Amino acid sequence: MDVVIVGAGPTGLTLGAALARRGHRVVAVDRDPGPALDGSWRRRGVMQFQQAHGFRPQVRDLLLAEWPEAWRAWLDLGAEPIDLPAPDACTPAVGVRSRRVTYERALRRAAAEADGLTVAVGHVDGLAERGGRVVGAVVDGSTVSADLVVDASGRLSRLTPPQIRGDAGMAYVSRTYRRHPGEPPGAPATPFAWSARFHGYDSYAFPHEHGHVSIVIIRPSADAGLGALRHPSAFEAACRAIPGLAEWTDARVATPTSGVIVGGGLLNTYRRQLERPGLVAVGDAVATTAPTAGRGLAMASMQIGALLQLLDAGADPATIAAPFGAWCDTWILPWVEDHLAFDAESVRRWQGHDLDLTQPLTSAAIVAAARADPRIEPHVAGFLAMTALPASLAAAEPLARAVYETGWRQPTAQGPTRDELVSIAEWARAIPGARLETAVAPIPSYLERSAS
Ligand SMILES: Cc1cc2nc3c(=O)[nH]c(=O)nc-3n(C[C@H](O)[C@H](O)[C@H](O)COP(=O)(O)OP(=O)(O)OC[C@H]3O[C@@H](n4cnc5c(N)ncnc54)[C@H](O)[C@@H]3O)c2cc1C
Repeated sequence: MDVVIVGAGPTGLTLGAALARRGHRVVAVDRDPGPALDGSWRRRGVMQFQQAHGFRPQVRDLLLAEWPEAWRAWLDLGAEPIDLPAPDACTPAVGVRSRRVTYERALRRAAAEADGLTVAVGHVDGLAERGGRVVGAVVDGSTVSADLVVDASGRLSRLTPPQIRGDAGMAYVSRTYRRHPGEPPGAPATPFAWSARFHGYDSYAFPHEHGHVSIVIIRPSADAGLGALRHPSAFEAACRAIPGLAEWTDARVATPTSGVIVGGGLLNTYRRQLERPGLVAVGDAVATTAPTAGRGLAMASMQIGALLQLLDAGADPATIAAPFGAWCDTWILPWVEDHLAFDAESVRRWQGHDLDLTQPLTSAAIVAAARADPRIEPHVAGFLAMTALPASLAAAEPLARAVYETGWRQPTAQGPTRDELVSIAEWARAIPGARLETAVAPIPSYLERSAS
């Protein structure tokens, strides 16, 4: 069949290559022309392109199964496979350390070599319909005919309207660095990342390939004071003051490789499939979640796998949206609902509120309680690996609730409070850049606290 895919992001290219391997003629249309001849790539309209990404095993497993050339291209560009705790004893779980830019470059490189897959530059303005069926896409005013149109246009899809659209209420500031040759990495708490929760904000360090690392500070989007961290001097001073970040970012061990990147408008979105024969939505065009759990590409990979299985089993492409939509309602929607609950709780925590024990506990609260009661651990492994749905945590809810009823709360790390970080940011902005390294920051009270 002829397939037009709207969007040549990770979903469009991976699904497109897998369909082309099955003998279909695929055109993936993207307004983004891809990397320029000098290697630069602006990737307008995809704000997460420069943001930190962790790649769960589902991403690597799908490439290995469906598009091994892309997996090899990714390894050639430096992707680092990492062993993760397996959800059960027999299933190996391998995640990937890589910058998002490196991942997308590998996909583009492999797509250029893929028989049957064409990547075309153009803006999809809408759909072409005949007799109540979608028969193509309108690209820069001209119709490109197809038996199946795939909406892989991402989190802001205009082709498929959202039924759930919740602002996660949080915003990112991040910056990328590269370790100097020979410098050991800062210690990651998990194979994927170092992360810590503080009073009023959280922070992360994501090691990537070839000594690259992304540093992220995440806060309530309503907290205008911490918004000052978007200024490079303020961000650098914050990195010096937050103990776990200092060892990744100190000028003696690493050099910044980007400006400070702001990521707002983080959405938890779900789009049901439309009843329009000939059209199916996949990837972020179906579901987006705030990036705190790094689930987006795993959800996209699971969707691609499910769609291919339906096609392989002989489903009619014209009406595939119905069974695929039912699959998404069962296997993808729960992850969005999970985020809506626990993102709201994170924002409340940053704003100083205690856990609300009158409400059902969120997945994040249940997982955290495993620190205090190890009997919870076996219940959370599948959920953490995304091989079991959030509902699988129900059995552990009473155990977790009992933990919180004793007064136990997940500890915050030693580091500046939100107010102290705001003071540090304001102080740093008043210091001329060249003197920042040697200037003496106001001593945060946590240092005084630990000294005494
Ligand atoms: C800040 C942030 C951090 C994240 N971190 C992680 C993480 O750590 N781990 C993880 O797994 N996921 C993460 N995600 C999610 C992940 O980035 C997405 O799941 C992923 O980009 C989905 O790929 P996609 O191809 O479906 O959509 P996209 O990557 O958005 O690609 C859509 C493509 O469609 C094109 N397009 C759109 N409209 C048109 C049009 N009308 N005409 C032509 N082309 C069009 C765009 O140019 C784009 O190339 C993060 C997301 C954000 C926002």
